[in-house]
Amino acid sequence: MARINDNYLKLQAGYLFPEIARRVNTFCEANPEANVIKMGIGDVTQPLCPAVVEAMHKAVDEMAVRETFRGYGPEKGYSFLRDAIAKNDYQDRGIEIQSDEIFVSDGSKCDSANLLDIFGSDNVIAVLDPVYPVYVDTNVMAGHTGQADSQGRYEKLVYMPVTAESNFEPAIPTEHVDLIYLCYPNNPTGTVATREMLEKWVAYAKEHNAIIFYDAAYEAFISEENVPRSIFEIEGAKDVAIELRSFSKTAGFTGTRCAFTVIPKGLVGKTASGESQSIHALWNRRQSTKFNGVSYPVQCGAAAAYSPEGKQQISELVAFYMNNAKLLREGLTSVGFQVFGGINAPYVWLRTPGELSSWDFFDELLEKSHIVGTPGSGFGAAGEGYFRLSAFNSLENTVTAIERIQKSVAANV
Ligand SMILES: *Cc1c(COP(=O)(O)O)cnc(C)c1O
Repeated sequence: MARINDNYLKLQAGYLFPEIARRVNTFCEANPEANVIKMGIGDVTQPLCPAVVEAMHKAVDEMAVRETFRGYGPEKGYSFLRDAIAKNDYQDRGIEIQSDEIFVSDGSKCDSANLLDIFGSDNVIAVLDPVYPVYVDTNVMAGHTGQADSQGRYEKLVYMPVTAESNFEPAIPTEHVDLIYLCYPNNPTGTVATREMLEKWVAYAKEHNAIIFYDAAYEAFISEENVPRSIFEIEGAKDVAIELRSFSKTAGFTGTRCAFTVIPKGLVGKTASGESQSIHALWNRRQSTKFNGVSYPVQCGAAAAYSPEGKQQISELVAFYMNNAKLLREGLTSVGFQVFGGINAPYVWLRTPGELSSWDFFDELLEKSHIVGTPGSGFGAAGEGYFRLSAFNSLENTVTAIERIQKSVAANV
């Protein structure tokens, strides 16, 4: 019989979202008249903006004509898109990233997982807790961990708790680690990294010859002036970091699929015999062997996000969600909730009231207010006692949800 990858059996059975679905279904069967508002999963709700749609239509028309038809494109992405990314997201902001350091892909989720292909299996890996579960599960799949303990923490991973007590700033590890996953603006807490904090991480990575995987999927939601938008704003980061960005949340591409990963040409890892090896070259080899690029119409749509009209329309999309986040923050704060995030990210992270566990608060919110959120403990042990609400929703649902929470909390007192 063919052997399987036993590491998959170490995975905690995809618990979080299936368990949420189970509880919501049970509730809806018992209360068919309830109008349940879903503020759980982080998926966008607004349609693609007109500039993107127009570019994609035009690209499809080109594909319909022999003279302009295109087959396989470059594995790294068309240069019209990589140039637009390098100029708009980096060079115009004073960051020295060249278009040949950009690899276009079909998603940051896949990129963060696939990157493990080019790293060895004996690296010490550090993640935030709570964490975007993909980072952890893909390391489990790759055999980089032991078994999970009763709190769901895997042996061999280094967990860095982020809670209100430490102002959501992870402590720099006191031990040696090789790969560090940072996500800012953060999912799930909605909090951001300051420049000083990133400087400390870059210094740590330099000292330990570590590499930082910097997931900036929510960069477009940053509203405050002094918040870094890219790790490459930090001096020396090009020697120690890989940055992941996505059009998913920025431009509503969760169902359209386009993202990119930035690997500076000078970034190196070491071989078994201790020699330096270019990470850029390895990733290029990996992508050109295992990936055939993102479809032409989608890349045209992504490039249109950088046109003047596209930028304007996307900033309106972002403002729409961030208004929801602001209403959530204010509405919950006014009835006594302790609320974090929601200023530079479309997530509001709240402390559950009255020492309720994350799952108890989930049940209470569902039963009393008919609202679905995400229990913080589902993102890691240090998320216990917290709860995530997403601003990806209609204004109407957001307003109704706030009114319901205010009523049931007021009824509680
Ligand atoms: C949504 C999200 C992404 C984007 O993933 P895609 O595969 O590009 O859709 C990446 N990282 C985090 C933390 C996210 O929440």
